[in-house]
Amino acid sequence: ESFQDVDMGEIIMGNIALSRYTRPTPVQKYAIPIVKSKRDLMACAQTGSGKTAAFLLPILSQIYTDGPGEALNAAKENGKYGRRKQYPIALVLAPTRELALQIYDEARKFSYRSRVRPCVVYGGADIGQQIRDLERGCHLLVATPGRLVDMMERGKIGLDYCKYDMERRILLFFEIGCILCNCILLNFSCILNYLVLDEADRMLDMGFEPQIRRIVEQDTMPHKGIRQTMMFSATFPKEIQILARDFLEEYIFLAV
Ligand code: AMP
Repeated sequence: ESFQDVDMGEIIMGNIALSRYTRPTPVQKYAIPIVKSKRDLMACAQTGSGKTAAFLLPILSQIYTDGPGEALNAAKENGKYGRRKQYPIALVLAPTRELALQIYDEARKFSYRSRVRPCVVYGGADIGQQIRDLERGCHLLVATPGRLVDMMERGKIGLDYCKYDMERRILLFFEIGCILCNCILLNFSCILNYLVLDEADRMLDMGFEPQIRRIVEQDTMPHKGIRQTMMFSATFPKEIQILARDFLEEYIFLAV
């Protein structure tokens, strides 16, 4: 059992080596091939199981190698984007600032020497600074639900002007006016292909369900089956089963 069992490309392999992860943990061993095969996933895994890398590694590897990152880079090089920079390809929702920062740190580790720029936004910190950070371009956004909804309400986030074909992979870009909620969108419309709900049970315990639903069910969010969605939760009670039913498409259930 090693990380070499699944081909994740040179950048990821190099960064795994740099982070001194020698062997995948069980959740990594099972989840990585599932995510790479583009299936939705409901994983029951505890904190400390290595679940963060279990979703970050395959997502980043897809973005680097043959995922929308390639299309994004190609389109950028063709000048289709004009002045706009980068757009989140992946959104990770986490219950707390601490967890969001941990995920962000891992994402930075694994995106080292790549073109991918992770960002993090959470409550209780200066929103202006976070917005300025996003304006510099963001491929992978880690967010707490409350702060993300706040940004949506301020018109700083839109998920439109890009469509996926049904094969999930090929992007069709649309140059459309980016006026949303009477606000001019910043460089922050999402080309969102990956959605992760980390510690979903904790997010529900903390009362974030309305915010999560607002984010996931907004008109411009790519639909399930088009985006790839992964949910992680320590427990699998009724409420989580309902979220999984609502957000995931023909998902694989994994318990480790
Ligand atoms: P997590 O469950 O994702 O919060 O990870 C728990 C801790 O284990 C973090 O400090 C990770 O950096 C570390 N970790 C995750 N995967 C591995 C691995 N395959 N080998 C060694 N350490 C790991």
